[in-house]
Amino acid sequence: MTDDPMSVPDTAPLCGIPWGICPEHGPTLAASAGRSRCTFPGCGRRWPYDRLDAPCAELATRRITDRAGASITACAVHAAEAGQMIDGAAVEPLERP
Ligand SMILES: [Zn+2]
Ligand SMILES: [Zn+2]
Repeated sequence: MTDDPMSVPDTAPLCGIPWGICPEHGPTLAASAGRSRCTFPGCGRRWPYDRLDAPCAELATRRITDRAGASITACAVHAAEAGQMIDGAAVEPLERP
C-alpha cells in the first residue's frame, strides 16, 4: 500500500446504464432465481447474481446525449443499444485526456 497520489488508478468513467448486458452480446441476458446468463447461442456466460438488475460498470467509451440534452456515459454495447432505443439520441466517443 502506498499513499503516493501518483499511484491512484486512472479514474476512468464507468458505464452509467443501470442494468447489465453481456459484454459481448448486449441485451441478451436472462435472469432467474437471483442468477443470470447470456442467452446468445454459444456464449455460455453466467453470473451468480441478477446482472439485469445491477449497474453495468463496464468501462465507458461513449457518451449518449438525448434530445433534451441530458447525457450519460456508456460502454460500447450500451451505447449501441441506447442509440437504437432512445429517440433522437446522439452517441459520440468519450474523449479521454
Ligand atoms: Zn453473451
Ligand atoms: Zn454498459
